[in-house]
Amino acid sequence: MVLIRCGYFSQSSLLIGGLVLAEIRNCPSCGEFFNYTGIRDVCYKCSQKEEEMYQIVYRFLRKRENRAATVDRIVEATGVDKELLFKWVRKGRLHPAVFPNLGYPCDNCGRLTKKGKLCESCVTELKSDLRTFEAAKEFRESIEKSERLTYLADKEKNKK
Ligand SMILES: [Zn+2]
Ligand SMILES: [Zn+2]
Repeated sequence: MVLIRCGYFSQSSLLIGGLVLAEIRNCPSCGEFFNYTGIRDVCYKCSQKEEEMYQIVYRFLRKRENRAATVDRIVEATGVDKELLFKWVRKGRLHPAVFPNLGYPCDNCGRLTKKGKLCESCVTELKSDLRTFEAAKEFRESIEKSERLTYLADKEKNKK
């Protein structure tokens, strides 16, 4: 076992035969050091707290009348942190198929989305941007082609 330190304690990793078993990280929630193993992204204490919160949120959402609750309503009713709620939706612990008003912010515009990194309207926009780009490229190429032809034609003319 070799403990490699790369200057910062938070970046040291426990290596066994080149395999990273544990990494010391700062808990993003409380700032404490913890062993990151890839399973939890916060420390043990915080993950316990998150678990309790999850149970509260889940109990709330399980009620038929709360199924369609919006993110704001859930936050208001349970006191859960919005980011935590988004994390559960991203990880698939809370499924938008079951809770129709759940989602997480689009990477581009922040509107709620249910899948991928971008919402549908951003994906559509991106696609049309791409089409415009392709069209512009074709236009440029056709101009270049005609310019080349003119150039060749001029060259021919000069020969005579
Ligand atoms: Zn923590
Ligand atoms: Zn978007």
